[in-house]
Amino acid sequence: MCGIVGYVGRQQCADILVSALKKLEYRGYDSAGIAVHSNGKIKTVKAKGKIAEGLEAKLAKEGKPYGTCGIAHTRWATHGEPSDVNSHPIGNGRITIVHNGIIENYREIKEFLISKGYGFESETDTETVAKLLDYYYSGDPIDAIISALSDIEGAYALGIIFRDFPEKIYAVRKESPLIVGKGKGENFIASDMTAILEHTKEYYLLEQGEIAVLDGDSISFYNLHKGSIEKTICIADWDMDAAEKGGYEHFMLKEIHEQPSVIKTTINPRIKDGLPDLSECGITPEKLNSYKRIFVVACGTAMHAGVVGRYVIEKLARVPVSVEIASEFRYREPIVSEGDLVIVISQSGETADSLAAMRLAKQLGAETLAIVNVKGSSIAREADMLIYTHAGPEIAVASTKAYMVQIAVMYLLAFEMALAAGKIDETECRRLTSLLRETPEKIEKILENTEDAQYIAAQLLTADSLLYIGRGLDYALSMEGSLKLKELSYIHSESYAAGELKHGTISLITDNVPVIAVATQQNLFDKTISNIKEVKTRGAKVIIVCRESYVPDKDIADFKFGLPDDVEDLLMPMAAVVPLQLIAYYTSVLRGNDVDKPRNLAKSVTVE
Ligand code: GLU
Repeated sequence: MCGIVGYVGRQQCADILVSALKKLEYRGYDSAGIAVHSNGKIKTVKAKGKIAEGLEAKLAKEGKPYGTCGIAHTRWATHGEPSDVNSHPIGNGRITIVHNGIIENYREIKEFLISKGYGFESETDTETVAKLLDYYYSGDPIDAIISALSDIEGAYALGIIFRDFPEKIYAVRKESPLIVGKGKGENFIASDMTAILEHTKEYYLLEQGEIAVLDGDSISFYNLHKGSIEKTICIADWDMDAAEKGGYEHFMLKEIHEQPSVIKTTINPRIKDGLPDLSECGITPEKLNSYKRIFVVACGTAMHAGVVGRYVIEKLARVPVSVEIASEFRYREPIVSEGDLVIVISQSGETADSLAAMRLAKQLGAETLAIVNVKGSSIAREADMLIYTHAGPEIAVASTKAYMVQIAVMYLLAFEMALAAGKIDETECRRLTSLLRETPEKIEKILENTEDAQYIAAQLLTADSLLYIGRGLDYALSMEGSLKLKELSYIHSESYAAGELKHGTISLITDNVPVIAVATQQNLFDKTISNIKEVKTRGAKVIIVCRESYVPDKDIADFKFGLPDDVEDLLMPMAAVVPLQLIAYYTSVLRGNDVDKPRNLAKSVTVE
């Protein structure tokens, strides 16, 4: 959510900043801008809308600011509508800033500053920080930053430039992510590595309350008492290819196709001698056997991965699992205590609600386990135990490969937990683990059949609304299928436990409300078919996602997406989610939507 970039070095920076901002487009934004030290002034150009149509068009018209030190921003508005004046960078000619996050006490600060004679142009909370820095500034930027931060409450990553220091960028963060990239004769700040990978792989993770000061040749760090601090450098193991489309029309399609390989990179190192081994993540069988209850806390797609996890853990290990929406969990005084395990799942590792929920769980005495994709992210750093999903950078806003590896990890956990609890024996655990290892091949096979998903998508284009139904694990998948379709196609859709339909929701069925029925679980198959018949007789067009060998009659389904017969029920979610992702993808393409950056959405939701 929102992107920050800064460059200081020897090259003209306007183009570098704009191209780095483009790498952060996937995070979601509504306006963009740059500010550059230019001949003794700070020159700012910013505009509402997409980078290409807004900012770049303006830069082409007004000319690019000349200079080798600047900061840039893509904004995801929280305070004040998306508009040119509310766009960042924000400043008054003396100090200019870019900000990610929310200043919670901005009203108070604004009133204070107004009483001191300051005027405000924008409706943003950010402008209060810019003016507060100006209020405290009397020649020493670090003093001004330290004083201003002591007044500010909320979440922020800030990039700051001072007119008086034309070759320096200042940066600081609390909650919102920010890294400092180290190049040769040039240095960077960025919200994440994808923005600067083409320039450098070396970076520092800025910790809470640390101030970074960069020029072209050096980077120094200070704490909030102005003491200088040493930091260790990190090396990114993602390469540029991972952040490029590689011949696919969209990142989302590329990421769907990467799923078989990222499953392997995620699970193979965690399998030893045919059995799951999560010891490198700080997880031992004794620990796994010690929890009375498990909570999975997450948001959106990651939460749906948790729902799959619940079915699998409960079925195999017989430990009660509840899956919680992080934003609800954190505010409802959850009953969590010592002896409980709280699993937090987040692709970015910066999801504000999930991070806060994890902190709360820790305070209440629970042990926390993070399942996270982005190395060094806040959730990864603060959790007691950590499993990285090795999905590589996920650029499309709608998550696909990250979900896939999140559930792959949930399987490994469930297998190890069940073995530790003595609920399955070693032979069974080995068998399940080897089935999990075979899933990439099965997914490859499914990915050869994109035509059926395209055909189904074409049937959905003019639908008023859609229902996804299923039972058990198929219901868990329906939730994810429905969310994907909503995110990408903008068609309203709901997921329902198939058996629950007739208790109300069936009244929505018309011939323009297609139903996508997921029916992969053999023990529930006949029951699901009965539910499908209920909607079919009421006029619904039905698409069934089931095993290849099942041939539905005309009175059951209008179209089928067939899955390999030889996938065991328990592992079917990994196979069956693929057609659901493809259907959502093609529906979005056919409707002419912005597939990789659906409207109103942000990739990494760093505000609550
Ligand atoms: N709260 C700030 C604003 O609305 C920053 C939003 C962002 O993170 O992009 O301008």
